[in-house]
Amino acid sequence: MMGQQVVDKYAKARTDVLIQQRLIKEVTLKKPYSYGSYNKVRGNRQAIRITEGCVWNCPWCYEPTEIKIFGIPQIVRNEVLIYDMNLLCKPEAVNIIRELGAVRVNGKVVYYELVCGIDYRFLTQEIAYALKENRFKKIRLAWDWHYSDQRKIKNAIEMLSKAGYQRNEIMLFFLCNYRVVNYEESCLKLDLAKVWNVKVCDCYYDGQVFPHVTPMFWTDQENKSFRKKVRKHNQLVNFGIDPEISSYNTQGCAN
Ligand code: SF4
Repeated sequence: MMGQQVVDKYAKARTDVLIQQRLIKEVTLKKPYSYGSYNKVRGNRQAIRITEGCVWNCPWCYEPTEIKIFGIPQIVRNEVLIYDMNLLCKPEAVNIIRELGAVRVNGKVVYYELVCGIDYRFLTQEIAYALKENRFKKIRLAWDWHYSDQRKIKNAIEMLSKAGYQRNEIMLFFLCNYRVVNYEESCLKLDLAKVWNVKVCDCYYDGQVFPHVTPMFWTDQENKSFRKKVRKHNQLVNFGIDPEISSYNTQGCAN
């Protein structure tokens, strides 16, 4: 199922939730939201924005609903960070991914990252293959909503795995310190991320980063506890063991 059909199906399912949960976007952003096309070179990396807009209008997000396609700027570095908030919701996405993959800089291939993550609701097996074939690294899959989306997230992870991504190359974005998903539900989501062997990126509303996270909808203790749990979780996924335990403690062992 593609494009408008996907939007219709999920938009309907979300309507009740949004009506109840949408409040005025009440926080004054520390930095102004970045709109428009973007193209900056920083050392050996280039940062770009090719499109703008998202169909979902999530209550915590400032991305406009109007869709704009700016086009691909000249690629001049072999490492490119893409700052589109939701590239996949545009029908042009797969062609853009392929077009980027065909670029060579100084005769060498280019590696890309979709920094703001990908939307599982628009991920298809074709797009998963295109991302892998065109050297999109560090896949971040947004799981901002509820635990009940587990099957859809699992399905998206399976598509990415089938396309050739290792589980520890995949990261789930969780939105923390916001009213929609509380601490306890986020811990349940983290349990599933362990079962799936994928990493987690805990993003704190409203773009806050530790150690400067102000409690807003979670308590300070919940924010700090979740940060610690995610750090440990990612260690376990990365190393396959707990690297902070240096040796097996045999004290008390009967043998
Ligand atoms: S959070 Fe993501 S899915 Fe939601 S409106 Fe913003 S860009 Fe779209």
